[in-house]
Amino acid sequence: MTKRSLIAAAALLVVTLAAAGCRPAMQTDRDTLYQVSSISALMQGVYEGSMAVGDLRKYGDFGLGTFEALDGEMVELDGKFYQVKVDGTVVAVPDGLKTPFAAVTFFDNDKSYTLDRPVDLPGLQTYIDSLLPSLNLFYAVRIDGLFSNMKTRSVPAQVRPYLPLTDAVKSQQVSEFSDVEGTMIGFRCPPYVDGVNVPGYHFHFLDKERKRGGHVLACTTSDVRINIDNTASMIMALPETASFYRVDMGKAAPEGLNQEEQG
Ligand code: ZN
Repeated sequence: MTKRSLIAAAALLVVTLAAAGCRPAMQTDRDTLYQVSSISALMQGVYEGSMAVGDLRKYGDFGLGTFEALDGEMVELDGKFYQVKVDGTVVAVPDGLKTPFAAVTFFDNDKSYTLDRPVDLPGLQTYIDSLLPSLNLFYAVRIDGLFSNMKTRSVPAQVRPYLPLTDAVKSQQVSEFSDVEGTMIGFRCPPYVDGVNVPGYHFHFLDKERKRGGHVLACTTSDVRINIDNTASMIMALPETASFYRVDMGKAAPEGLNQEEQG
């Protein structure tokens, strides 16, 4: 290469980098939990969306969360997003719809287990705990099969000024399904994520027809396949929005964050 073409190549590189913008896409490998915002911000009522689902899809094909204004429960399964409205019915999600809180990953199954007996949600969580190599990593957990009972909830879109999540979920609607086939989509996070994400398990549910679902409050398994994806790294995309900038994160999170109150 001549000196002149070297200079031209260098100039082209500079132009290419400048064209890429000031916020280049973060590099994630497939075993990364990619998270939008923090659960503590959502708890404090930061429901303003900060990332469109069309962008979120670049970081995972599996996950959960909520939508702009806390309008229902988000499920991402096999790369497709679903919005579970307050009545438990499912609608398609336009790529431009934004999320204020979500967690996704690329689901690569590391291990599968069959569970063909009735186990309730606490029992299911204890059983999955016993299968994990460590309780200190993140895990994506996908459970496919038949459930004799599934109790879910969803929430209605909120209006400003937004109430904290513990108050907003008081207007939740609970749906209950018997002998339903479908998929539980969730994560197990380690205890040290308190405030960042939900320590322990957080599951959403989608039925086989992709017509009904919600945030799982209770369930009883009948015959299911548990699939586990070990996830050893995590990236947070913090919202560059006015409501996130201004929320008082020093304020103690409302007491009693539990299965009933997560996003
Ligand atoms: Zn949830």
